[in-house]
Formats: sequence, C-alpha cells, structure tokens
Amino acid sequence: SWQLTQPLIIVGDDDGGKLFTPEEYEEYKRKVVPIRLRNRLYVSWRSPTGMDCKLVGPETLCFCTHRYKQHKTDYEVIPKDRPICVPCRVSRCPCQSYHYVPLNGTQPIRCRCKHFADQHSAAPGHSCNSCSKCSGFHSCFTCACGQPTYAHETVVETKEERLAQGRPVGQDVPYAAMGGLTGFSSLAEGYMRLDDSGIGAPSAELLESPVTSTDHPFLRAFQGPSSGSSGTRQVSPGKYSEQDDMAYFEKRYQERASYYIYCLIQACLHKRISKKKDQCMI
Ligand SMILES: [Zn+2]
Ligand SMILES: [Zn+2]
Ligand SMILES: [Zn+2]
Ligand SMILES: [Zn+2]
Ligand SMILES: [Zn+2]
Repeated sequence: SWQLTQPLIIVGDDDGGKLFTPEEYEEYKRKVVPIRLRNRLYVSWRSPTGMDCKLVGPETLCFCTHRYKQHKTDYEVIPKDRPICVPCRVSRCPCQSYHYVPLNGTQPIRCRCKHFADQHSAAPGHSCNSCSKCSGFHSCFTCACGQPTYAHETVVETKEERLAQGRPVGQDVPYAAMGGLTGFSSLAEGYMRLDDSGIGAPSAELLESPVTSTDHPFLRAFQGPSSGSSGTRQVSPGKYSEQDDMAYFEKRYQERASYYIYCLIQACLHKRISKKKDQCMI
C-alpha cells in the first residue's frame, strides 16, 4: 500500500507518526523540500583543534535522549542569532537545542558527579537529577582526538558558514534531518584542506569503494559530481520504506566516517611524533 511505501527519508518524523496521504505528501514536498535545499543546517561535534569528531545524522542521539530528526531541523528563515538553536519537538521535552553527547561503546558516559549523562536534565544547564553536588553535566571522557568531551562543542552552521571555513557541505539533498552528513568525497576534501600535515586521506579509497548502484539512495546521493545535481532527485517509493533501513544506512555511513576520521587522527599523531624524533636527532 501507499502508506508502507512512503519515502521516510524525505518526510522524517514530520508526519507525527500519522502517515501522510499521497496528497499530503505532495503538498509537504512542495512546501518543505525547497526550504530544505536552501536552508540546510549542518550539525557536528567539534574538537578545540577544529576537527569535526562526530557528524550528526538523523538517528544521532541528543543529550535529551531524542534523535536529531526529532528536533526542529527545517527553518523557513534561518535565525540571525548565533548559536542557531535546534529545539526538540518531542512534547514536554525541555531540550532547547540539539546537544551531542558521545557514548562509551554502547554505554552513556559519566559526569564528574559520577552519574550518567542520561541522569541529568535535558534543560539548559544540564543539572543532575540524582545528586545535589553537580553544577551541570561535565565529562572528562576522552574522544578519539585526545581531547576531553567537555572541550568539544556541538556546532550548528549554515552552508555559507561552512564554505567560508573550507569545510565540506556535500551535495544538496531533499532528505530530512541530514545534519552534518556530507559525502565521503567532500569529507576527504574537507579534511585534506584542514590537515596541514600533507599526509592526506589514507582510507578515502576504502571509504568510497563499497558504494554501488545497489546501495541505498541515501548513500548514492553522495557519490560525487558524476551524479549531477541531486537536489531534484526523487526517491522511488516502494523500495526503501523502513525506518530501520534508514538507521542501518546511517550507521554504515557513520562507521565509515568515524573510521576515516580515526585514520586521519592517527596519521596526524604519527607525523607529529616523527617530527619530534627528527628534531631530537638534529
Ligand atoms: Zn528531546
Ligand atoms: Zn535534544
Ligand atoms: Zn553531573
Ligand atoms: Zn550527579
Ligand atoms: Zn574529538
């Protein structure tokens, strides 16, 4: 039936769990897709070194325990104030703006008050619900980049703001809540530009190779300039309809992106160590 074949990657959570009729879907696309192409917000979790250690995607959890796609990700007019707030749309959730918090494997990380992240309030200030000594969530959990969690920040940017910093923006896509997910090619280019070691992208080939014509359109849309302007590309209804499906492809993307970032960090550290060794020898 139509209801089972609705392209969820365009609608996201905007139907409020009550599936659109074909007419409502057409109306939704007419209204939302142009706004999305024009006003996409890019969300990442940035290290003090300027590295985007986490690219936030539709399924990425917020501090409030809801997913990015459950937040207000479409703006008809982008707010003038910075930082741009991306509030949670789940009823009664006090989260005022998307805030990424890493996991320790599959476990929530701990605050310096010893309580887990999810034992803290989602309201601004992130006070602890389980003790009175906590002055707000603060975690020393170390990221792969070597910096503690508390030194990172969740960044919400426009396309123009990213371009001005030489960061990847990917192609324009009509999908809901894409956040910081851009193509693998643009990811590689962006990091090579940020990476002054000159080592480049050790695993870019590996990252690119598994994407084939049988891949989900979500991944194929990122396949570089040969695919032309994907802004008008439609997802054929019927093939991919499950929410889990989207989660699966985002997970694959995130794994590859994380692996890429990990390799680059390793390469930079190695370069720094060998530079030090060279200096010692001189
Ligand atoms: Zn929430
Ligand atoms: Zn939230
Ligand atoms: Zn705490
Ligand atoms: Zn506590
Ligand atoms: Zn980091």
